[in-house]
Amino acid sequence: MRFCRYDNDRLGIVQGTDVLDVSAALSEIPTQRWPIALGDPLIVHWDRVSVAIKALLPNAPRKPIASVKLYSPVPNPTKIVNAPINYHDHIAESKKDTAIAAGRTNLTHISDWGLFLKANSALIGFGEEIKLRFDTRRNDFECELAVIIGKTANRVSYDDALDYVFGYSLGLDMTSRGKELQCWRKSIDTFAVCGPWVTTKDEVPDPNKLDLKLWQNGELRQNSNTSLLVYNVNKLIEYASSFYTLYPGDIIFTGTPAGVGPVQPGDVLKPSIQSVGEGEVRIAMGYHGKEIEK
Ligand code: MN
Repeated sequence: MRFCRYDNDRLGIVQGTDVLDVSAALSEIPTQRWPIALGDPLIVHWDRVSVAIKALLPNAPRKPIASVKLYSPVPNPTKIVNAPINYHDHIAESKKDTAIAAGRTNLTHISDWGLFLKANSALIGFGEEIKLRFDTRRNDFECELAVIIGKTANRVSYDDALDYVFGYSLGLDMTSRGKELQCWRKSIDTFAVCGPWVTTKDEVPDPNKLDLKLWQNGELRQNSNTSLLVYNVNKLIEYASSFYTLYPGDIIFTGTPAGVGPVQPGDVLKPSIQSVGEGEVRIAMGYHGKEIEK
């Protein structure tokens, strides 16, 4: 099953090129009072919601997905976890093109860096625009498999890790290059693109064996396979949950292969991941902002 969030916070099931409106199923999510429990409420209550979805589907109104505006299918992760230097060919290109790592030389192994978080406020869907904030900086695309966590995961083993997955999305870890920490440079509003939908894990037989591609303005820039991840999906869940608890709806951006490069306003990015889906998102100039002086 593929679900999406679209237009005025509607819940849709994607079938072929259509989206079927099953928003009525959202009434299965109990209303919450302050404080709100950790975890995305849709994923937390998916067992109930999915029963309602199945009942609604035969009579659900449908329209072409091209005619709706898509938002991040998971709006409320407790965190967006990111893997740095997680494909060998990306490490190699980062050593060659020193602008990518801004002169950092310890491009050794992910275990030397740990994982970093992007701010949740950076999260958008494919119907929105990536808005560059500083045209004085190099801003790059990074196409990544995004893993959506399905249930609370604390100190999970490698072998059990996939039991904690809900599904998969396309992720774009947009990046402003510079010397500062990744959590700062990669947390600009709109710099975490997730979607266009979540494909449930039953439709993705092996997340560690998926072709992953990205086209920029029609030209193929990234072309790899998740079998080349340094830390694969199991290992990333084991690694992340060894330091902190993962909650339903948390998103793990698994890292990018070689081929990253700068974007300009007007560019169109088209990522595609085998069995998960494909999407298209546009780059815009957001603010023409100047950076704060020291
Ligand atoms: Mn990345």
